[in-house]
Amino acid sequence: MATPRENDTMAKLVALCKRRGFIFQSSEIYEGINGFWDYGPYGVTMRRAVENLWWKYMVEDRENVVGLDSTIICNPRVWKASGHLDQFSDAMVDCLDCKKRHRQDQMEDPTTCPACGSKKLTEPREFNLMMKTFVGPVFDEEHAAYLRAETCQPIFVDFEQVRVASRQKLPFGIAQTGKAFRNEINPRFFTFRSREFVQMEMEFFCKDAESMDWYNYWRAERWKFYTDLLQFPEDQLRIHDHDKLAHYAKAALDIEFAFPFGWGEIEGVHHRGTWDMSRHTEYSGKDLSYFDQEANERYLPTVVETSCGLDRIILALLCRGYREDLADTQKEDKDQDVRVSLSLPPAVAPVQVAVLPLVKKLGDKAEAIYADLRRAFRCEYDLAGSIGKRYRRQDEIGTPFCVTVDFDTLEDQAVTVRDRDAMTQERISLDQIKSYLAGRIL
Ligand code: ATP
Repeated sequence: MATPRENDTMAKLVALCKRRGFIFQSSEIYEGINGFWDYGPYGVTMRRAVENLWWKYMVEDRENVVGLDSTIICNPRVWKASGHLDQFSDAMVDCLDCKKRHRQDQMEDPTTCPACGSKKLTEPREFNLMMKTFVGPVFDEEHAAYLRAETCQPIFVDFEQVRVASRQKLPFGIAQTGKAFRNEINPRFFTFRSREFVQMEMEFFCKDAESMDWYNYWRAERWKFYTDLLQFPEDQLRIHDHDKLAHYAKAALDIEFAFPFGWGEIEGVHHRGTWDMSRHTEYSGKDLSYFDQEANERYLPTVVETSCGLDRIILALLCRGYREDLADTQKEDKDQDVRVSLSLPPAVAPVQVAVLPLVKKLGDKAEAIYADLRRAFRCEYDLAGSIGKRYRRQDEIGTPFCVTVDFDTLEDQAVTVRDRDAMTQERISLDQIKSYLAGRIL
């Protein structure tokens, strides 16, 4: 259970995200829609940066993983084969007193309403999470279709096309990022449980005998992604190995992050056996087996999956980065004031470098520096307000470096670089500035 202080952190973070245009309610002028979130300018930049990092790490840097971009709506038989139409459901309970609706598996005590404490609850009812729509002008069952509940099913369905086109031999992986939709009973914890979200998934096809080696390999690779590339401290992450497994799986784990509201899953690494490939073979009538020339045998590939939610990673980065500390201020009657900052890894910060002329007069020089730096980094130029205020603004959006242009710059061809976290200020000459920043950002 989250303490009031932890809930307070979440409330402050949600307010910051809205104020600075990271993330806010979708269609807010119509009072929003529960479980749907828009990413504003800083949010979308950060989301793209994390997605690009994932894509480079999982696809571009490897010879044995290729990409796919499938449609959100597929032939509905895909979801029949995958089991989603029959089994992708949660048990839902309604409180007859306060009328709130809950997911039964998330209730601490299934006999008591977590909102009002009432014992007057309905019997649990199964509720399918697939979002339904209709394709074509006739709105009947024959024309029903579904928004994908996960990005991986089209990977299985397109396996043969991708394998042939990319001339890959087993073992190899297919990756895809994109929107997924779930009609969650109880969207909550800001973007953590949304109804529309982005997944980044990779399905790795291999021989069954080698599948546990690959499972362990991907477990280590995914841990490295969070600790090395995204710089999450190891004590805020943990691996939860499942003890209950699906009948076809040999292993499964969740990578969890310590959110202010408790540990929450950000990624699953799953051994899926030949389940998906055999189901799609059965339902489509197309043989999805693979002929292994070296071994001279034909078999259905075994799949190891890595599956993460981009929105949950962004939320984890924001939670990890949110800081409040005391800093000197020029405000009247005060020596110090609360400084809010977002300690984001430079590689994914929406603004990596802010260029700030001390006064308007220095604008020409500062603009020239800005024009040069923005070719290499995500930059912002800011002239409005006192320099202290401008630093605060950049701290709040997580800018790791502020480059200040002052009168000395005209003489010594150097600028002051302020570090967001250490609050140190270093004088760097203009002919060194790009390599200085590159060494710390890229
Ligand atoms: P949960 O148990 O939290 O509902 P899950 O086990 O159903 O998650 P998966 O189906 O394994 O999740 O999906 C893989 C990843 O997709 C999750 O680790 C998570 O990061 C993300 N994800 C799943 N559901 C949501 C959601 N409703 N909102 C945001 N991200 C989600």
